[in-house]
Amino acid sequence: MTVPSRASVSTEAGYRPTLVEPGLVQLANNEVPDGPLPSAVRALAAAATGVNRYPDPAAAGLADRIAEHLAVDPERVVVGDGSVSVCQQVLQALCGPGDEVVVGAPSFELYPVLSRAVGAVPRPVAVTREHALDLDAMAAAVTPATQVLFLCNPNNPTGTAVDRARLDRFLDRVPGRVLVVLDEAYRDFVDDPRVPDGVVTGRSRDNVAVLRTFSKGYGLAGLRVGYGVFPVLVADAVRRLALPYAVNALAQTAAVASLDAGAELRDRCGRIGRERDRMRTELRRAGFAVPPSQANFLWLPVGDRAEALAAHCRRHGVLVRAFPGAGVRVSVGTPAENDAFLRLVRAPEGTRT
Ligand code: PMP
Repeated sequence: MTVPSRASVSTEAGYRPTLVEPGLVQLANNEVPDGPLPSAVRALAAAATGVNRYPDPAAAGLADRIAEHLAVDPERVVVGDGSVSVCQQVLQALCGPGDEVVVGAPSFELYPVLSRAVGAVPRPVAVTREHALDLDAMAAAVTPATQVLFLCNPNNPTGTAVDRARLDRFLDRVPGRVLVVLDEAYRDFVDDPRVPDGVVTGRSRDNVAVLRTFSKGYGLAGLRVGYGVFPVLVADAVRRLALPYAVNALAQTAAVASLDAGAELRDRCGRIGRERDRMRTELRRAGFAVPPSQANFLWLPVGDRAEALAAHCRRHGVLVRAFPGAGVRVSVGTPAENDAFLRLVRAPEGTRT
């Protein structure tokens, strides 16, 4: 006799991130190559001796600091152990069996996984020929059963970003009973002023939420801390679904220190943005139709060659992420790491395999 799980859980594929392999160049997971911000490292070292104590149970101090940083009411902020936890809480709070969740395709792979886990039905909407989220088609995919719509801006894995005017037109079309979640995990790398700040957008809309993380620009992926900014009533429901002490003490300390280190963040993200633009120029020169990216990664739309290209890179020591049948996503690493990748994809074997 085996113990049965709920049918939706036992048939669900789950999320399978690329496993880290020591010794390989890691360009598969959209991490920054250079560690946490120096101020956060100092704060972490000082906090290490205090971990015999439980942390602030709902990370209220961090939530207050985030609210101050963003100039929003602290009641609207919910902190979690990674923004994926907050994302899961949103779906648990708003969706049940048969409800629908509109997502881009491709977009962050966890949205459909977490939607199915609460019994909801993901409705994928293909990106445009330019690899951007198709806002017209996403608005048209909303039905009376839709509860949540995820708009990843910039979009993982294509890197493309929606501009302010298009977002506003789109939000005017989506019914107010649907929560539009702007996932801004890669916000810190945005340098095009036409890309809207979702927190500002959310000030005048009752159905807009924003997810952000300390995993990307701030370099705290290993500590697991992220947050959401919600309309007050949604925040209340999302907060109730958090486990107590979900955000560990070191993560809370490092996140507060990171928010205090704005200049360090801007310096780092500026460098990564310039590297990203250099890589894109080189890749386009090599014949890849890479769309413009506002994130810390680039999208190579190589279609059926995705897995072969990723396997070729791996054989030569570089890990990138293949999306079978669609493309390869490469994160921006150090200049030397990026050059190693560029050499590989320029090599005839890379374009043939
Ligand atoms: N949203 C998007 C779009 C992401 O790409 C990722 C990480 N891959 C996350 C959220 C998860 O972030 P966190 O580490 O805060 O859970």
